[in-house]
Amino acid sequence: MNPNAGAAVGIELGRRRISISVTGFDGSPVTNELREISSSLGLETKVELAADMIRQLIDAGRIKPEAIIGTGIGIASRHANPSSLSDGAERQLDPQGVTLDPLRSVLPGPLLWDNNIRLAAMAYGRDSEDLLYVVLSAGVSSAIVTNGTLLRGGNGIAGELGHISVDFGGPQCWCGRHGCLESFINEANVLAEAAHRGQSFPSIAALAEAAADGNGIALSIVDWAGEMLARAMVGATVLLDPSRVVIAGELSQFGEPLLTPVRRAIAEQRLDLGPRVIDFGVAPFAPTAGSDGAAHMALSRWARTPAS
Ligand SMILES: [Zn+2]
Repeated sequence: MNPNAGAAVGIELGRRRISISVTGFDGSPVTNELREISSSLGLETKVELAADMIRQLIDAGRIKPEAIIGTGIGIASRHANPSSLSDGAERQLDPQGVTLDPLRSVLPGPLLWDNNIRLAAMAYGRDSEDLLYVVLSAGVSSAIVTNGTLLRGGNGIAGELGHISVDFGGPQCWCGRHGCLESFINEANVLAEAAHRGQSFPSIAALAEAAADGNGIALSIVDWAGEMLARAMVGATVLLDPSRVVIAGELSQFGEPLLTPVRRAIAEQRLDLGPRVIDFGVAPFAPTAGSDGAAHMALSRWARTPAS
């Protein structure tokens, strides 16, 4: 069986990386390619770079254009309008101010884009019907899979967990509200909070390592970050009733101790409406999750049972 027959391409145009995944019709990985980029690059440049990478993969025989059934593209900080996804034969509208034509010119077949975090959730959500996927990184993002389908919302911007207030008296967020989760547990502020408590760490990885070694300040930071996360997660789980929660992104390096306050807060809230079982976990850091999920979306949209 040749997995290249009926393969899908996934592309992530992330803040700091471009990744490409090719997935066979059965969901198995065929090839992937990753390039680190400067976070200052504009989306138009990222599209050009990704098209170059695709061209090279085709030249090297790693992508066979005739076998590609469709392409999914995950784009950082952009959200597809739901009405642009409801088409049959029509072409989806491109992200505002940018054309995806350079990618259309190197890849045959239909193409669909959406937010990269949503598509990364698809990489985890395929076995899980009701998933809440939370990324703790430079900011806080989340994606919701419900009944096996991505929740996009009426305006295309569902899932902004980072802008749920966890402290109404807290600092003003760029969104205009006060005490948003994201203004506390973004990477830079977590490092600043550690410095404020008496010890500077060069990175989240170093802080995580110190916590694992029992460093008191590092442990207090992990506990504080978990408490902040818990305040938002109780609300989110009451509303969504996920069967599975996956915490990803740089702060997931804090591991299981980050989840302790979350588990405690949810256990404290005994909602006697029926049994509630939530499978909580921390995802290992996976740089190709966004492009893997984008390929999975393309497969689930365009794959047909292969003719026998
Ligand atoms: Zn906000």
